Amino acid sequence: MRANLGRRVRLIGQFTAIAAIFFGLHVCYALGQNQQSQNPYSPAYGHPYRHGAVPTREAWKKMQQWWAAYPASGTVAPATSGSTGDLTFQGGTDGIGVVSGIPKVYVVFWGSQWISGGDPNGAATYLQDFYAGIGTGGETWSGTMTQYCDGSTVRTGATSCPSGAPIVGYPSNGALAGVWFDDSAPVPTDVTQAQIAAEAVSAAAHFGNTTAASNRYAQYVIAFPSGADPDGFPDAGFCAWHNYTSSSYGDIAYTNLPYQTDYPQGCGENYVNSGAAGILDGFSIVGGHEYAESLTDMLPTGGWCDSSLSCGTHEDGDECVWIAPGQPGGAADVVMDNGSYAMQSTWSNNDPNGECAISHVIEGSSIGAPSFNTPQVVQWTSLSVTYRVSWTSVSNATSYAVWELWNGYPSSGSFSYFLSSSPTDIEVGVPKGSWVYLEVQACHASECGDFSGQDELVY
Ligand SMILES: [Zn+2]
Repeated sequence: MRANLGRRVRLIGQFTAIAAIFFGLHVCYALGQNQQSQNPYSPAYGHPYRHGAVPTREAWKKMQQWWAAYPASGTVAPATSGSTGDLTFQGGTDGIGVVSGIPKVYVVFWGSQWISGGDPNGAATYLQDFYAGIGTGGETWSGTMTQYCDGSTVRTGATSCPSGAPIVGYPSNGALAGVWFDDSAPVPTDVTQAQIAAEAVSAAAHFGNTTAASNRYAQYVIAFPSGADPDGFPDAGFCAWHNYTSSSYGDIAYTNLPYQTDYPQGCGENYVNSGAAGILDGFSIVGGHEYAESLTDMLPTGGWCDSSLSCGTHEDGDECVWIAPGQPGGAADVVMDNGSYAMQSTWSNNDPNGECAISHVIEGSSIGAPSFNTPQVVQWTSLSVTYRVSWTSVSNATSYAVWELWNGYPSSGSFSYFLSSSPTDIEVGVPKGSWVYLEVQACHASECGDFSGQDELVY
C-alpha cells in the first residue's frame, strides 16, 4: 500500500475515515422494554438483582428455545453482531457509570471450606492468577471495555463516547488488588443476596477501603467454595451475577461467584480447552464476564447496556454469552503475562457494525515512538535501489507507518508512507535517485504515536 499524500493530509484523512466507521453506522432499533426479563427461563426472571447473570448453558438453551417458540411475544434473543446489539449509556447511578480509572479487583474466598477440602480443583490459585493477569502482556481483551465512558459530557442514550470523556481504565499492572481468605467459619448454606452484599461491605472494611473514593474503581468478587449454594446456585439457573450495594463506605460493586465446577457442563468446564487444561475454563469465562460488566455497568443499571432489550440482562457480557469457540465472537484463550485463560467476548459498539469482540484496541493508551536505525542499502542497480528500514517494535502497535521523502527536503517536501505489518523492518525499492529521508510511526486501529527520529539514506 502506498499513498502520495502529504503527512498532514494523510493524518486528517485517516481520522475522518475512522470517525465515519465509529460514529456513522450505528442505528438502534427500538424493540420494547424489559424483553429478556420476560423470558421465564432467564435466571433474572423474578430476581431483578441478578444483574448481568450468566445463565447456565441449560438455562441459556431454554431461553433460546423460548424466544424461538414465541416469536410474537415481543421478545428476542440478543444479537451477537449488528447495531441492534449496541449498548447505550444510562446516565449513571449516583453519578457513576463505569470504572473510569484503573480497575481494582478484590477477591474474597468466603468460608473455611476453602482451606479444608472445599477447593478440589485449585480454583483459588487460578482465580488469583487470572485477575492478576488481566491487563498484562498487552492483552487486548480488556481493550473492548476501554471504549466506554461516563461523566457529565456523555448524554443518556449515547452509543459512543465524546472526546475527552473519562473512559474505562486498562489495568496494565494486573487487576488484582487484594485477596482475603475469610476463613474464620464455614460459609453458611443458603446464602442470600443480602448476605453477599454484606460480605462485600465487610471486605471493603478489611481492605481499608472505607471511603467512597477508595471504592470508586473497586469491585469485590465473593468467591464461594465447592458445595456452597449462594442465592440458589446452581438450581437457580445462573453461574454468577453482579450488583452493587450502598454502604457507609460508598457504593460497593460486587459479584456472586459460586464454585463453577460444581456445575461443570453448565458453567463452562472444558468450554474452550479439553482435558485437564480446561477444567477451570468456567472460572475465567464467567469471572471475566462479570468483571467486564462491573467495569462498564459498575452500579447497575447506570452504565452501558442495551436498554431496548432490558438493561439488567443485556450488559456487555450478556450479549456475547456462550458463543462456542470458533464461531464469530466465540470464546477463546486470552494470553496474559502469566498464562492463557479461556474467556468469552464482550460487546463492542465501535467495531464497524457492533459485534462480540474478544480483542479491541486499548483506547486512551499512548503509543510510544519507535527508535530508528540507520537505513541500509540492500541492492543497487543503475535504475533502482532497494533499502531496508528497521526500528524497535512498540507495545500495543498493530502496524507501522514508514514515511519516505524521496529526493526532497524534510522541511519543504512531501512525505508519503508505507504501512508495514512487520513490527521491526521493511524493504523498500525506489527508482534511481540521490537520497531519501525516512522516519517511522507506530499505530493501532485508531491512532498513531509520535514519530521516530529521522535519518537520511544517500545512495
Ligand atoms: Zn452478564
